[in-house]
Parts: sequence; C-alpha cells; structure tokens
Amino acid sequence: MTDYKMTDEWRKKLTEFLGECWHEWELIGSGNHKCKYCGYISFRDFFPSNRTFTTDKDMLAVFRKIRDKGKWAIFYSRTMQIWYSEEEQDLESNLEDYGYEACFSRWLFLDNPEQACCLAAMFLEEQG
Ligand SMILES: [Zn+2]
Repeated sequence: MTDYKMTDEWRKKLTEFLGECWHEWELIGSGNHKCKYCGYISFRDFFPSNRTFTTDKDMLAVFRKIRDKGKWAIFYSRTMQIWYSEEEQDLESNLEDYGYEACFSRWLFLDNPEQACCLAAMFLEEQG
C-alpha cells in the first residue's frame, strides 16, 4: 500500500488546474501583504490560504474539474489500475463482501482525500 503524501509542487499544480491563484505573499508595509501573482491584498493577519488538497472539499473540486475537462472516464480507469495493482493481496476477501466496483470506489472516494488528490496530481502529470 503506497502512502500518498501531498507535496507543495502538487498543491501548486492542482491549484492552477482549478484555475485559481497559488498565492505567494510579499510584505507591503504596515503588516499588510500582497500576492505577487494576482495582486490580492491581505490586511494584517488575514491570509486566504492556499488549498491543502487534504480535504473532501478540495478533492471534490479537483474531481469536478477533471469531469469538466472531459477526462473523468480516463482518470477513473487509470486510478482503478493503480488500485488493483496495490490492493491485489487484500482483494479477495474484500471482494466477497463488497464486489469489485464498490471496493474501488470506497478506496477512491472515502478512504483518504489526500490520497485521492495525489492520484489526481499524478494523473495530470501523466497527461502532460
Ligand atoms: Zn494570488
């Protein structure tokens, strides 16, 4: 079982895939900061933070964007291949209880949103 860990490089890639700014803050005086890319100004300690891609909300945003780009079917089948190669040894007992599709969808959607976002980032890298 691979232990998927979100990296800053993947967070940036996924943020840009969503069409959002990967904010990087510069101090502009009086404790205020400005994003050097989109120009957003944050006052004092209020920073809109970049997405972590470890939450259900971020996972669903990425999945919906993959769907909107017309890539859902290929993403789904690609991640099913990864799941199958990783879960092979445990599969037999689980399959008796749940069936193939239910085991896969549980792993993809319910087990770990960080893992799901890592898989999406890997998929985007493969797609170029
Ligand atoms: Zn920004």
